[in-house]
Amino acid sequence: MGKTVGTARARASGASQRRGAKRASQLVRTNSVTRALNIIGDRWTLLILYCAFMGSQRFAEFQRTTGMARSLLADRLKRLVKAGLIRRQLYQRRPARYANHLTEMGADLYDAAMMIVAWEKHWHFDAKTEAHNLRHSVCGKKFTPDLRCSHCKKIVTARDVTLKEGPGAGLERRLGPRAQRRSTVKSQRGANQPPMLDRAIELLGDRWTSHVVAAAFYGHRRFNEFQDALRIASNLLSERLARVVELGILEKVKYQSRPARFEYRLTDCGHDVFPLILELMRWGDRWLDKGKGPPEILVHLPCKRPLGPVMTCDKCGEKVTPDEVERSPESRRKAAGSHLHK
Ligand SMILES: [Zn+2]
Ligand SMILES: [Zn+2]
Repeated sequence: MGKTVGTARARASGASQRRGAKRASQLVRTNSVTRALNIIGDRWTLLILYCAFMGSQRFAEFQRTTGMARSLLADRLKRLVKAGLIRRQLYQRRPARYANHLTEMGADLYDAAMMIVAWEKHWHFDAKTEAHNLRHSVCGKKFTPDLRCSHCKKIVTARDVTLKEGPGAGLERRLGPRAQRRSTVKSQRGANQPPMLDRAIELLGDRWTSHVVAAAFYGHRRFNEFQDALRIASNLLSERLARVVELGILEKVKYQSRPARFEYRLTDCGHDVFPLILELMRWGDRWLDKGKGPPEILVHLPCKRPLGPVMTCDKCGEKVTPDEVERSPESRRKAAGSHLHK
């Protein structure tokens, strides 16, 4: 693929250069994180999924919580149905009304959502945020979810894993970004949207931003490495890299003085996004492998086994399932408070 780009660049005509670059730009290495982000890496989709995890099912509920316009909400729900994450079920005949349920595939994003919570809680703790006060019903303690290796039970970090090609390895067409311009989040925030989602949405809700973050975990540091991996236009890449630096995920480090050259390295806060990337990869491997098996296999270096991540409780160390996650009594009391004090 590098050769195609090289040949195209050598051409004198600007037009053919652009055409050549465009053809080459349509192929990227297959990977499950990219596939997952192609589906959920959209601000509105993330909001809908968040509401679905909080129990919303009806159109009006989604609309109330997200503040989305009808047509936009209808469009995103339709896409989620098509992608297989949501299933519609008739609950009333006249007029016809449908409830939107998470499918098994949609519900399987739960651990990824919990990794967002863990990251937010670690770096931007807010005692008033309900999701930062969840309780593990088995040990009864307030907990933060961890991701551990299913074999050796050690906590997984980006530094402890290595990648090898899996049976589904190859090249595939890259999807064009839904919107080229990075959208501003706050101005369009739904009235009832919890503030905790702001940062996750900044990170994942713009497709190119999320792909830049994911690429950093694939070891890409230099501008041209990101460009080769993502096939993204220079101006868009510059803008996204600057944004990811602003968010504190990457830092720009000078690695050479004459001429000045910079590379982008994951900060500690950036490294902490790894469990989320890992969960997206697991999800993509399970649901989006097109029957070919995972494109990549992660090996956990401490135990040398293929990595199967498991969500665990940081207090008791045991596996946590969605039905073992409880809201804390305080937040339940607060929710009931208005009735109690009447
Ligand atoms: Zn292990
Ligand atoms: Zn526990």
